[in-house]
Amino acid sequence: MIKHIDTAPVIEAFAKNCECPVCELYGKTEEGYLESFLGGSVMEPDVRVEVNRKGFCAKHFLMLYGMGNRLGVALMAHTHLKETIEDIRKPTPKPKRWGRGAGDLHAPSCACCDKLNNTMERYLDTVIYLYETDSSFKSLLKNGKGLCVPHYRELMSRAVSNGKNAFAEDLRGIELANLEKLEKDLEWFTLKFDYRNADKPWGESRDALIRALAKVSGAKEV
Ligand SMILES: [Zn+2]
Ligand SMILES: [Zn+2]
Repeated sequence: MIKHIDTAPVIEAFAKNCECPVCELYGKTEEGYLESFLGGSVMEPDVRVEVNRKGFCAKHFLMLYGMGNRLGVALMAHTHLKETIEDIRKPTPKPKRWGRGAGDLHAPSCACCDKLNNTMERYLDTVIYLYETDSSFKSLLKNGKGLCVPHYRELMSRAVSNGKNAFAEDLRGIELANLEKLEKDLEWFTLKFDYRNADKPWGESRDALIRALAKVSGAKEV
């Protein structure tokens, strides 16, 4: 079932015309959540319980550490550490199955990732909802650069499993046209390394490598 949320952040991200508006949304949402986790006294009790229990993944602990509120991070790490010690003290500790990829050291449980994954699913639904109900958003999507490949696949599978075939067809067309253009740009980027092409114009290829990395992996554009 399609469950949409706030439409304004989605429209804003698509209006930026970047390689992936969903990556853009992800970054903004992630930043907002990390700030809210550090809000300390305003953190709701159920959020605090969740943070104590799950802690954060390496990426999010490091991002929090870099945000200039060492006391806030220390307090969260301390209560999480205490809960972890309690858990390890138990005579027959059961393996925890909190986060995605439970039991995998490289994908530990994370209060931020879990919250983000949940919100991002609803944002993807919002994209489909806006496409169906808002003609100016539809043309924004059609004239945009598509999505990064991981987000394209995610959105596509949500569309297909909800029977949104017209949307899926359009999205596939938009994605393919953009990937094909990018492939040509990237090819010319590689050919520019040939001395015989040194004096030929770059065209739109000067930033093709970084755009291609953003497109295939969702890596942030620099
Ligand atoms: Zn993306
Ligand atoms: Zn995380």
